[in-house]
Amino acid sequence: MGRKARLPKSSAEPVSRKLTAMQWDETPAQRRHRATKILAALRTEFPGAQTALHHQNPFQLLIATILSAQCTDERVNMVTPGLFRRYPGPEHFAAANQVELEQEIRSTGFFRMKTRNIMACSSAIVERHEGEVPRVMEELVALPGVGRKTANVVLGQAVGVAAGVVVDTHVHRLAQRLGFSSAQNPGEIEKDLMEVFPQENWIEVGRSLILHGRKTCVARNPRCPVCLVHELCPSAGLFTSR
Ligand code: SF4
Repeated sequence: MGRKARLPKSSAEPVSRKLTAMQWDETPAQRRHRATKILAALRTEFPGAQTALHHQNPFQLLIATILSAQCTDERVNMVTPGLFRRYPGPEHFAAANQVELEQEIRSTGFFRMKTRNIMACSSAIVERHEGEVPRVMEELVALPGVGRKTANVVLGQAVGVAAGVVVDTHVHRLAQRLGFSSAQNPGEIEKDLMEVFPQENWIEVGRSLILHGRKTCVARNPRCPVCLVHELCPSAGLFTSR
């Protein structure tokens, strides 16, 4: 494997942090083999990777995931215990007082939009699915405010169904840095990752890449020298400030 001609023209040329999708010349089989080794390395650091969002059932994870948009998991975990005590199920959220719910989730940001989505989604679950979170991707993404990312989190982490790969901002970035995708669209990135990793690993892949992206391959100045997959990454050292 060797680097493609996407490197800077000269060693003196600064490398933009926006440089993405560094790729090695490799066959699809070599890429899948490299992906397996990367996942194995990440598994040693994050064994049994699970979502950090506290939940006791698929519905609670669905609500927590909606709340986690543009918000930290820690903040969501501070809000949800009281929230789930007051609203134990979709019928309770569907009948909530909108203004009160807005204030209860205000600290998670974008609280008006999240309140609308939570109430509409809960109503749809009550009306169309007898109060149960659907376990099929097509039915989940048909719920108001639920996209593939949220649906993949719920199916993978609460139901154990590998319907796809969670693509959030961390997975988006790492898929490009690791040379698994050159796409910008989350749907296209997910398809690329589903090609590279076997389905049995799809749940683990999303979670492991998210944790690696938070801890080591951070957006600015990734910690390449201490990265477990340094030798397997076409972008190693390219995003560090000079
Ligand atoms: S070597 Fe650097 S760019 Fe590659 S995955 Fe590790 S931290 Fe990220």
